[in-house]
Amino acid sequence: MLNVVDAPTFSTRIEMPGAYRLRLPGPTEVPERVRQAIARPVLNHRGPEFKAGLARAETLIQPVLGTANRVLFFAATGTGMMEAALVNVAAPGDPLLVVSHGQFGERFAAIGRSLGAEVEMLEFPWGEPIDPAAIAERVRAKAYRAVMLTHNESSTGVVAPLPAIGRILADNPALLVVDSVSGLAGIAMRQDEWGADIVVSASQKALMCPPGLGLASVSEKAWRVIRRDGWAPGFYWSFTRSLASIEKGETPFTAPVGLVAGLVEALEMIHAEGLARVLERHRRLSSALREGGVALGLERFGLGRDLSATVVVFGVPEGLDGAAIVRAMYERYGTVIAGARNRLAGRVIRIGTMGAFDAGTILQDLVQLEAVLGGMGLPAARGAGVAAASACLGEGA
Ligand SMILES: *Cc1c(COP(=O)(O)O)cnc(C)c1O
Repeated sequence: MLNVVDAPTFSTRIEMPGAYRLRLPGPTEVPERVRQAIARPVLNHRGPEFKAGLARAETLIQPVLGTANRVLFFAATGTGMMEAALVNVAAPGDPLLVVSHGQFGERFAAIGRSLGAEVEMLEFPWGEPIDPAAIAERVRAKAYRAVMLTHNESSTGVVAPLPAIGRILADNPALLVVDSVSGLAGIAMRQDEWGADIVVSASQKALMCPPGLGLASVSEKAWRVIRRDGWAPGFYWSFTRSLASIEKGETPFTAPVGLVAGLVEALEMIHAEGLARVLERHRRLSSALREGGVALGLERFGLGRDLSATVVVFGVPEGLDGAAIVRAMYERYGTVIAGARNRLAGRVIRIGTMGAFDAGTILQDLVQLEAVLGGMGLPAARGAGVAAASACLGEGA
């Protein structure tokens, strides 16, 4: 009989340095500096120390968002923030256009329907680029309250062409609501310049924190919709209430004070490295991992130029099972990568390339993948993955 002491708990593996590698497309590994910040004593959420931290978090994240908007913080995951955005703009019966290119687009639609909005879909095949012209056609033909878009589709590893979509909606009353949960701080976001009206994100992806802190940045155009006459968005999620609080340096309800401290630390790290360099690191290392995996016999997933810098998705060759690769990586190395829990189940594996990671991280992924795939009958020349990745990294890798 399994007793509590022998049970494979929480602590058995993660307490051994290097024996547990969190390589998911979120949550991601939290740097030691951030963990230490989160472990500091809990602060009074209405006191001067926390107010200073919240102000710092906002100041440091505005350039990452590319915005001069006030930033609203919530105790929430990314999905909570997606729902918050919809609660604030869409009354029951309001028409919404969900541009979907994967699982998270479908989630946006499900949230919209659950709120009683009239949801229409514009679907692109999973893994293929989004065609902005198709969006232009739909918003010309009908007046929508909002267009919902997944900036970085974590299920397929494809990025939406946000600047082009923003231009289309610039002269249209519809709001552009963007889920950048897995994009922000790993791929470029220039909210104000690109005309994104509401951008939502969360702490546990490229922002290098544990899950639980969500944020939203809201444009003037969106505020006009939120404040329209006779419209009372929900209680906890009310952006109006949240704005009134942040203007006093607070959040409406008890903030996750530890996570805010962690976010400040993570953002200090991002700015110390330099935001442009951080984004370039994500681009370079994701490409190198992609080339390395292909050299090991995995397949490229996704067409076109719009491949993600924060998640690398591989197609699994005929005869292999993605879930078995995920399982073997964990059992053999304690390396946690992702498969799929949707229509791609078994057919892809996904590895996070966001937040705190470097060339050593992806080279280690490739060494481990080589052994796992070799053991499953997909042999590659010894070191082929590492060699291809190194070639891609070039000098100074
Ligand atoms: C991770 C993620 C979310 C949010 O997921 P939660 O589990 O609710 O934090 C939303 N959208 C995308 C694109 C994501 O990658």
